[in-house]
Amino acid sequence: MTLKREVYAELEQIVGAEHISDKPHVLAGNRHALPAAAVKPVSPEAIVLPASADEVARIVRVCNRHGLRYIPIVSGLIFFAYPTQPGTIIIHLKRMNYIEFRDEDRMVILEPGIRHVQLQPEALRRGLTYPAAAVGPGGTVLGNFACSAGDNHNQNGSSRTNRYLLGIEWVTPEGEIVQLGSLATGSGWFCADGPGPSLRGLIRGYSGAMGSFGVVTRIAIGLEPWSGPEVLPHEGRTPDYIVRLPRDTHRAFVFKFPTLDAVRDAMHEIGKAEIGAGVIKYFNCTAALLCTSSANEFHELWDSGLFQRELAMPLYVYLATHSAAEMTYQQRVLEDIVQEFGGAPVDERIQKFYDDNMDFYVLLGSLQRVLRLGGAWAPDKLEADSVHHMFEAGKRIKEYFPEMIAQGLVFDAPDNWQIIPLEYGHVAHIEHLFLWERSHPAFAQIPGMLMGKSMESDLKYGIHAKTIMAGGPLLERFGPLYSNYHVWLNALRAAFGAAPAGGPPGPPGAAGHPPRGPSAQGGTRPP
Ligand SMILES: Cc1cc2nc3c(=O)[nH]c(=O)nc-3n(C[C@H](O)[C@H](O)[C@H](O)COP(=O)(O)OP(=O)(O)OC[C@H]3O[C@@H](n4cnc5c(N)ncnc54)[C@H](O)[C@@H]3O)c2cc1C
Repeated sequence: MTLKREVYAELEQIVGAEHISDKPHVLAGNRHALPAAAVKPVSPEAIVLPASADEVARIVRVCNRHGLRYIPIVSGLIFFAYPTQPGTIIIHLKRMNYIEFRDEDRMVILEPGIRHVQLQPEALRRGLTYPAAAVGPGGTVLGNFACSAGDNHNQNGSSRTNRYLLGIEWVTPEGEIVQLGSLATGSGWFCADGPGPSLRGLIRGYSGAMGSFGVVTRIAIGLEPWSGPEVLPHEGRTPDYIVRLPRDTHRAFVFKFPTLDAVRDAMHEIGKAEIGAGVIKYFNCTAALLCTSSANEFHELWDSGLFQRELAMPLYVYLATHSAAEMTYQQRVLEDIVQEFGGAPVDERIQKFYDDNMDFYVLLGSLQRVLRLGGAWAPDKLEADSVHHMFEAGKRIKEYFPEMIAQGLVFDAPDNWQIIPLEYGHVAHIEHLFLWERSHPAFAQIPGMLMGKSMESDLKYGIHAKTIMAGGPLLERFGPLYSNYHVWLNALRAAFGAAPAGGPPGPPGAAGHPPRGPSAQGGTRPP
């Protein structure tokens, strides 16, 4: 389908001729670029680059009038940022890059075009910081805080990004500009809720609407105090760079434990003691990818078995304190806890990597290394519940995953899952990442097969470990596990004029209301 000339002209009138294109080579560069996708890329009909909320609202209204779908994007790092059906345009938000720090209030107001590589260094210079998701420096800050995912390496001492949202400005699926919370009454950007019913949960919820529910055009987020230097101390150049923070107030440790229960219990005790900015049972295969700078180097390391031995049951701890005395205190508490649960330091080569790469906890510069192998990867578990529950979910992976490995369908990395507690262990997040080969004859079916097994396991044991879906055949079976969310979902869809989830497609508009798949990180559609 080609965009009708009169529709193109309407859009062009809004953004100007320089900020719209339907040239084949421009569209080709914006088809989905992720190796995980098994289907032929669908081309967007056009790309428009608005400069303001008003222009976004007018574009949305044009789309609604002409039955066009649209997807708002900035970085395009996840599958949902790309069209899956003809008749879709991309609203690229990179020109919307307003930013305003309010240092005294420890907040920043920003538009979608601001990326982590811009915000975090500027915040550090001001003695401030925020939990930056490990999506890499190019990720959009607003996208992560208001529209998708939100887990990060430092959420033990802080939280998921959605908890830091203050004011929100939103273009609804109808194309109306709405300001939420304190903004709505002219009281400023300090709170996303009230007076009156809050729409924050509707727009953001747990994992975000992934572009399927209007466009968020401006947000304010809360910032934290930063006790480190104004500029991250670094030596060398990527990929061989070193980032070490002053040891009197910043230290990173990696321990190994004899059992998963011991990791879990140590995690709990660290939370109770309210120490540790970052506490993670981290992925071991992803860690090996991050530690190496080529595919060959990765395979050499992985084949050596070091990461399988040392990091099958690890606990990463990052202490970030405001004084040397506080560091001494936190470290002693940590050592006691580690000793109590039988923990021990990991091989010194692994510890050295984290001593030398403390950006892992601040703004992970080398994240894109995890995509290096050129095959596909996706999560089959990605959710949150209590620390205990997440470990139960993790232990079940070994009930269905080894047979997939034995059949040669997925990479042999059964321990490649992470658990990160939030808010000192009041909640925890789980993510199990699996890798598979593009060249495998069953390439297109592998994620569906694996996710099917994973979901059946969750249903069997009553486990909350899967990003809940906005549609698909399992909606009715999963709904009761998640407080009957499917009932609420359909009530909301009805309120916004969309068809019930799992039914025929709803009206066009915000990304066409496609059922959102299980993956928030570049995976595939639900099976
Ligand atoms: C290697 C890798 C690692 C990752 N690690 C993490 C991680 O540790 N933690 C984490 O939280 N996420 C992670 N992600 C997932 C994802 O990239 C992030 O959640 C990120 O915040 C959003 O992605 P993005 O910057 O690529 O934005 P985009 O891809 O541009 O957008 C992401 C989604 O949000 C929608 N969207 C973007 N802007 C708006 C807007 N203004 N209004 C409405 N909808 C919008 C898009 O349509 C899309 O569906 C990872 C992804 C990759 C590829």
